[in-house]
Amino acid sequence: MRHLLDPTCDIESWLAENGQPSYRAAQLRQWIYQKRAGSLQGMKNVPKSLRTQLDQDFQFWTTQVVRHQRAEDGTEKLLLSLADGQTMECVLLRDGVRRTICISSQVGCAMGCVFCASGLNGLQRNLTCGEIVEQMLRLQQLLEIEERLSHVVVMGMGEPLANLDALLPSLRIASHQDGLGISTRRITISTVGLPKAIQRLVELKTGYHLAVSLHAPDDSLRNQLVPVNKNVGLHQILSASDKYFEASGRRLTFEYVLLSELNDCEQHAQKLSRLLKGRSALVNLIPYNPVAGLPYRYPTTTAVSRFREILQQNGLNVQVRQRKGDKIQAACGQLRRENRPIIGKPATDNP
Ligand code: SAH
Repeated sequence: MRHLLDPTCDIESWLAENGQPSYRAAQLRQWIYQKRAGSLQGMKNVPKSLRTQLDQDFQFWTTQVVRHQRAEDGTEKLLLSLADGQTMECVLLRDGVRRTICISSQVGCAMGCVFCASGLNGLQRNLTCGEIVEQMLRLQQLLEIEERLSHVVVMGMGEPLANLDALLPSLRIASHQDGLGISTRRITISTVGLPKAIQRLVELKTGYHLAVSLHAPDDSLRNQLVPVNKNVGLHQILSASDKYFEASGRRLTFEYVLLSELNDCEQHAQKLSRLLKGRSALVNLIPYNPVAGLPYRYPTTTAVSRFREILQQNGLNVQVRQRKGDKIQAACGQLRRENRPIIGKPATDNP
């Protein structure tokens, strides 16, 4: 069975092979992405005979919603089980008029960041293009009819730049006017910093917003916190990021998880300021969300304010990330912590 939500499933060839007019492809896409049909049956002006034929060769959804949680702040989290029994999570965040979705790119992660829940068991596998798109559509289904998805952040589980072949066609669906129609400026790829893959984005002129996870102002600390850094180094990451900025004109974001007493002291802030000097970047400070079983702690309010002040005094733009959805373990870095699926519970399990 082919996956209808997979943009690489080549519906055009299938239509041609089955003697169908090519305009049906655009019609199907409109039903899938814009009219939120949710199934072949829902596609009212597609002839029933064609829907039946499609049904024999294509699956609409390949995942199942095994858990659906809602937090008081409007955040919703879905636990999806994949065809091979793996699970992944994705999140919808409501903030004013913004409707942001946070999606995963892999099951597990190979980067080994010592404080992160996603990589605790290593990488299981890459998500397929269709599975990435499916997260977007599952979350879109949660919206009221008058709501629209406005932003996508690839900040769920996994390292998106380690799965670019599947990610790029999925994000093209997100940004394309025949897809979800979300401007590339409102689509953020968050990366641990893989210079070769950043270079590929430069060459492809993708225009997405890039967020680079630094977490340390020098290589010796970064090697400890982000082990993959040993093969890369901050210098290479910053130089690839600068090229991305030059090519795209998009201001970069540098993410920095504040881990109490490990990387959140004044000296770290001073060093980080020197490292990023002269860049018109935004530094996104993320107070650590503790992960059960790991020894890292939430930074004190004083440490967070002091860190922010020092960066600002040095001319950097700084934002401290708000925690959203932490009661349902949907906050940054918490995905897949409590993944014992509650099979059999209704899809709208409201805690
Ligand atoms: N692999 C990508 C996406 C990871 S998730 C990357 O490294 O950027 C997005 C951000 O959340 C990353 O900066 C990641 O380091 C951070 N993060 C991971 N676990 C966290 C936690 N428990 N608390 C706060 N931030 C966390």
